[in-house]
Amino acid sequence: MSGIFHEGRWYENTDMICRRCGRPVYDSDNPEYCYQCFHCDEDFYSFEVEEQDALYLPPVMVARPVDGITLNEALEYLLDDTGKTRIFQNQPEAEAFLLCHGFTSEDLEHFYFVEVPENEE
Ligand SMILES: [Zn+2]
Repeated sequence: MSGIFHEGRWYENTDMICRRCGRPVYDSDNPEYCYQCFHCDEDFYSFEVEEQDALYLPPVMVARPVDGITLNEALEYLLDDTGKTRIFQNQPEAEAFLLCHGFTSEDLEHFYFVEVPENEE
């Protein structure tokens, strides 16, 4: 699963993007709407968003709950050799990396593939 943490809550990728800013939208917290854009800070109906280019997969970081307990914020991120959070080109690449490093596909279910936020301009 890929997605983002927003204010401590996990939002799964919906494959839909905001018409206004082109960023991904996530399930709305407001039952009247389908989606929300965190960048525009607005809720949308399903006809107000666009499908994401099917070929596009966002870059991700790999995280897992510390000690296997899912608690807000208590995640450890996979680091690179210099101690920075390792960023993968996309989720399949991250999964391939983990499989090469001794994790099983069952293990992968316990990882979060956290989309890297775009730089705010
Ligand atoms: Zn937007």
